[in-house]
Amino acid sequence: MTALVLLEVENGEVRQASRSALTAAAHFGDVDAIVFGEGASAAAALPGVKRVLSVPALATDLAEPAADLLASIAKDYSHIVASASASGKNILPRLAGLLDVQPVPDVVEIKDAETFVRPIYAGNALATVRSADSIKVLTIRSSSFDPAPKDGGSAAVETLEAPASEKSVFVKVELSASDRPELESARVVISGGKGMKDAANFKLLEPIADKLNAAIGASRSAVDSGFAPNEMQVGQTGKIVAPELYIAVGLSGAIQHLAGMKDSRVIVAINTDPEAPIFRVADYGIVGDLFEVLPALEKAL
Ligand SMILES: Cc1cc2nc3c(=O)[nH]c(=O)nc-3n(C[C@H](O)[C@H](O)[C@H](O)COP(=O)(O)OP(=O)(O)OC[C@H]3O[C@@H](n4cnc5c(N)ncnc54)[C@H](O)[C@@H]3O)c2cc1C
Repeated sequence: MTALVLLEVENGEVRQASRSALTAAAHFGDVDAIVFGEGASAAAALPGVKRVLSVPALATDLAEPAADLLASIAKDYSHIVASASASGKNILPRLAGLLDVQPVPDVVEIKDAETFVRPIYAGNALATVRSADSIKVLTIRSSSFDPAPKDGGSAAVETLEAPASEKSVFVKVELSASDRPELESARVVISGGKGMKDAANFKLLEPIADKLNAAIGASRSAVDSGFAPNEMQVGQTGKIVAPELYIAVGLSGAIQHLAGMKDSRVIVAINTDPEAPIFRVADYGIVGDLFEVLPALEKAL
């Protein structure tokens, strides 16, 4: 059996989430990797990759040409795997449609080559599913698989042409610049909720994040209120994180938020309401006003 893993490259490096997808793909035997745009050499350096298929002409991962290309080479593979990132979620279900197979999204555990575990109902139940499809198309939850190392491998690189597609065009991308660690791979995350009251107060999280080398997250209410950009949202409809330490500040802990962070190793909650549901999952809780607790915490660090 050979699996194909779709790798995402950012600033010349394979994203940590994709290295977790490689770890998952290695359960199925040999692994080939496919990479769109630049980044073939970073992909070739990953240990465990047998062959890199490089598609430099597909610089932006538009779902239509990417899925067409994957479908054209899919018959060589038993499994096609990507991380459950925005890109993986965009491309792989389309590929599954083209192959007439059922995609298995957000896998957290691989039992065997056809049996997978995935969370349902916002993470409140785990479904074990068996796929009888000839080609299994999977996205994996990266926080559930250790990332493969960045180097040590030396795979051969083959270049593929991109198929023509007029269905969609790439216009532009607007990225928020940040020196902080990526939310999904940070070891520490500090998140603010509606209790932060306004966007200016979100800055209170920054000195603490700096000291802890933490990423900053937000609840959906905080995002909807304009306190933080969309890409900072943690939860069922945002990013799924499982850091070593998650500090929840002024957020109630709604079920849809918990879906994105309850697998964190240690959870700390700061909230004025002792009945807030966040305290049910918190290992350490401070019932108190964040406007007093945050400056005290910053000072103590
Ligand atoms: C389909 C669907 C998908 C959703 N997806 C997501 C998602 O991905 N992520 C997500 O987060 N939400 C999601 N939600 C929204 C979710 O249901 C909640 O509305 C949201 O998480 C609440 O955000 P919050 O905790 O910041 O706000 P609130 O629930 O308003 O909580 C604010 C908290 O701050 C506390 N507080 C107030 N002042 C202070 C103070 N001075 N000091 C300390 N504490 C204070 C309050 O006691 C309260 O507990 C989704 C909802 C739906 C229906």
